[in-house]
Amino acid sequence: MSSVRTHKVAVIPGDGIGIEVTAAAIEVLKAVQDKVKGFELVFTEYNWGSALYKQTGSYTPKDWLDTLKGHDTIFFGAVGDPDVPDHISLWQLILPMRQHFQQYVNVRPSVVFKGIDPPTRCATAEGGELDWIMLRENTEGEYAGQGGRSHVGHEHEIATEVAVFTRIGIERFLRFAFETAQKRPRKLLTVVTKSNAQRYGLVLWDEVAQLVSKDYPDVKWDRILVDAMTVRMVAKPQTLDVIAATNLHADILSDLAAALSGSIGIAPSSNLDPTRKSPSLFEPVHGAAFDIMGKNLANPVAAVWSASEMLRWLGEETAADMLFNAMKASLAQGIKTADLGGTHKTTEVTKAICDLIKGM
Ligand code: ATP
Ligand code: MG
Repeated sequence: MSSVRTHKVAVIPGDGIGIEVTAAAIEVLKAVQDKVKGFELVFTEYNWGSALYKQTGSYTPKDWLDTLKGHDTIFFGAVGDPDVPDHISLWQLILPMRQHFQQYVNVRPSVVFKGIDPPTRCATAEGGELDWIMLRENTEGEYAGQGGRSHVGHEHEIATEVAVFTRIGIERFLRFAFETAQKRPRKLLTVVTKSNAQRYGLVLWDEVAQLVSKDYPDVKWDRILVDAMTVRMVAKPQTLDVIAATNLHADILSDLAAALSGSIGIAPSSNLDPTRKSPSLFEPVHGAAFDIMGKNLANPVAAVWSASEMLRWLGEETAADMLFNAMKASLAQGIKTADLGGTHKTTEVTKAICDLIKGM
């Protein structure tokens, strides 16, 4: 009797180019599934997003979190709409998912691949190419959702936005960071804070990092303030390997990292529940990008790379490597969309990656 490993994948393409790059990722996943055998991906698509919001006032149906719970993993495109304030989709769909499923680590790798000219010479300075893993705390901190507004509309209106940091939340995240560094050849970890100005939450970060580090003596780690970090990323990229930062800081720094590695169009992300009690979620870092939607211009690489990370998380290492290698090979061959200075369309890049997989 042949046993095929089955993985149930919830697919949420969302809006804008989210729909285009999700279609690309699924095409590539199907190609790799045909090639590798031994496993099966069962896709169920959910049309949650701005269209549903405009009809019903809600981005999702009532029982959506239970629906997702029935899957092994979630693949997500992007949501957003020019007519809807961004904080609505963020707080109706994206942040509740991360918090409900306790996907407390957001993994955002950046690499300067062969075939991509980085925008600054610095990105490949001193022989060490830019090859980072940025880890973003994903359930608390500045995006904890605490705060409020009073005297609304009045000239003395007050709004508070409270960052919440818990010892448990920081520790579990930083353990993951030290473990990630431990598995990498250089074993470097840089913990980013702003503990000179933020004297409660981020001083706690510093203290917890110091404590946790004792369990990982082989990891070389250092600490840096977020402002100095932006300079270091540009001027001394070769000194960085694994980077750990708060929800807000890593949100910003990972966009910088993506730009330094060529384009936000190649940046993948994994929202992980390392305990594996809940499904993890994989998505490109970029958003719905309405300026290029429907023009076949979107770079599918960020979504395709995210799909490779999903396969790895599901234990399908061979398939994950094959997909990643095909993606790298297509870039090395100069098959690139306009954001990377190329002339290829979304569908052409997708087909090239599928063809490379077929030929492997
Ligand atoms: P969000 O609020 O979800 O972060 P955003 O409004 O910041 O979204 P993004 O979609 O993240 O916007 O991207 C900013 C710009 O970068 C887009 O307007 C688009 O021009 C470009 N861009 C983003 N993703 C891609 C992609 N996959 N391919 C090509 N260009 C892209
Ligand atoms: Mg953005």
